Amino acid sequence: MECRIGCGACCIAPSISTAIPGMPEGKPAGVRCAQLTDDNHCRLFGQPERPRVCADFTAAKSHCGNSADQAIEILSYWEEATA
Ligand code: SF4
Ligand code: SF4
Repeated sequence: MECRIGCGACCIAPSISTAIPGMPEGKPAGVRCAQLTDDNHCRLFGQPERPRVCADFTAAKSHCGNSADQAIEILSYWEEATA
């Protein structure tokens, strides 16, 4: 599937262990990434500072669901299950 523009769930629900500009220790689960704009776009998209893990994450029905709320639910479930 195509990434839902303005969704941003994968920039909120999961933890990210690598440093992100503005979040040198990485991002805790359930916290908005410092690089996520108010309308849920990545400020670093296409730039070398964007973490590799973000660039490698691809949209799929199995974890993105049918809405941003569903994606938050699914990604939060997997975050907890794999913590
Ligand atoms: S959760 Fe999926 S649809 Fe939403 S921003 Fe991330 S990749 Fe795109
Ligand atoms: S760096 Fe960009 S893609 Fe990665 S979590 Fe932050 S806003 Fe999302």
